[in-house]
Amino acid sequence: MDKKKPVQLRPYIKTRYVYQKLRVCKHCHNFTILWEDSCAFCKRHSLVHVMELAEKKAKRSMQSDRLLFYIIGLSAVLLSQTFLQIVISFACMVVLLVWLWLIQRRVLQTETLHALDKLIRSHQKQILDGLDLNKATAAAAIKEDAQLGYEIVREISSLVRNDRIRLQQIVLLQTFSLRKDMELELEPLLLNEFDPDLAAYIGEIAKIKRELINSKAIRYLLDHEADILRMEQGRQIMIDATGAAVRKKKYIDTFPDFISRYADGLPRYRFLRLYQIVRRNPGLSWNGLRDRVSAIYNEQYRSDPDFQKWD
Ligand SMILES: [Zn+2]
Repeated sequence: MDKKKPVQLRPYIKTRYVYQKLRVCKHCHNFTILWEDSCAFCKRHSLVHVMELAEKKAKRSMQSDRLLFYIIGLSAVLLSQTFLQIVISFACMVVLLVWLWLIQRRVLQTETLHALDKLIRSHQKQILDGLDLNKATAAAAIKEDAQLGYEIVREISSLVRNDRIRLQQIVLLQTFSLRKDMELELEPLLLNEFDPDLAAYIGEIAKIKRELINSKAIRYLLDHEADILRMEQGRQIMIDATGAAVRKKKYIDTFPDFISRYADGLPRYRFLRLYQIVRRNPGLSWNGLRDRVSAIYNEQYRSDPDFQKWD
């Protein structure tokens, strides 16, 4: 097995709307999801965030609304016959303009999102072309620097969700030595098909970030259990996932057979966790899991003082 590389991943910045991360070149309208300084297509330093551009567009259309009000108001002033009419028309114009300005200020964010939506819809082809260019950058980076390659693929995956991108992320993640303090994810990476790298990744996550093992991850393991058990570390992966699953009663309720199959391989402190839940719920048999836990307890932990507390 290759030696895994220690890495310090750049933090991943989550945005409220996925498209917020896109930047567009003001010169050639090339889109990018990456953090380069200049446009990869025309090489100019003219990249702006799409949100910025959308806000500018929203403000411009608001400005023309105000201009229209202004022209109407001014015409009323010019057409006035007496001084009183001039004063009234002018006052009305000022009040209406202030009112409009207040409304516009309040709806700026909504209007910006509308403008963003329009911008995205009318530039779909350019966005896809831009992402293709980003993918080519990723492919080149992966050969040189796996960490940078992973970071690029991770950015692309916020917009492009398919198994190819997921697989690329998993394969790259498996070349790093993973740590608890890393920003890791599991559910977005789950594939439909069996993949040994993904199975191995789930096994590692079960050890370092137990909280990421959820029903979907467990279902993936169960759907591909036979394939996983054919892997060299396959049984250990299933045991580690079981150890993560017993942290919550709801997983025991949903997957009692799975937990029953691997309970005898659990390390002591994970088995203790399972034992505690079983003892706390005397009315539940979980399709034989209760008996299985009792049998393991009798074989291995009968004289263990930590277990006695629960007797
Ligand atoms: Zn450009």
